[in-house]
Amino acid sequence: MRAQEHSWINFIIGAVHGIFRCKMESDVTKISPDPLEVVVSALASGAGAMLTHRLPDIIDPPTSPRHRNVGHGVLPIGFASVTAYRAAQSVQNPIARRFLEGAAIGPAGHLLADASTPAGVNLIARGF
Ligand SMILES: [Zn+2]
Repeated sequence: MRAQEHSWINFIIGAVHGIFRCKMESDVTKISPDPLEVVVSALASGAGAMLTHRLPDIIDPPTSPRHRNVGHGVLPIGFASVTAYRAAQSVQNPIARRFLEGAAIGPAGHLLADASTPAGVNLIARGF
């Protein structure tokens, strides 16, 4: 999959996440979200996901014989994403929090896109 396709897929994943997070928060507060807040949330989350989605390819460069090794492992990347996502919840500024949530899910979105290719991804590392 080309890098530009990865970028757009991850932006969309992040933006959809941002929209759903607004919906979830409005379900809790029983206050309808401001439409501008939904747009800003989608853009912030999409930008965060776009920023970090290349991390798996930085860890396992496509030109390296190690490509799609531990940096493309579902468990290591999933653990890192969940840990970063939970850490983002402590940020008080809602736009910064949404950006960091998007940044946390960016690498997972990369794996989702790579999983759709014939080479696929690994559970932990190559061979596992
Ligand atoms: Zn990759």
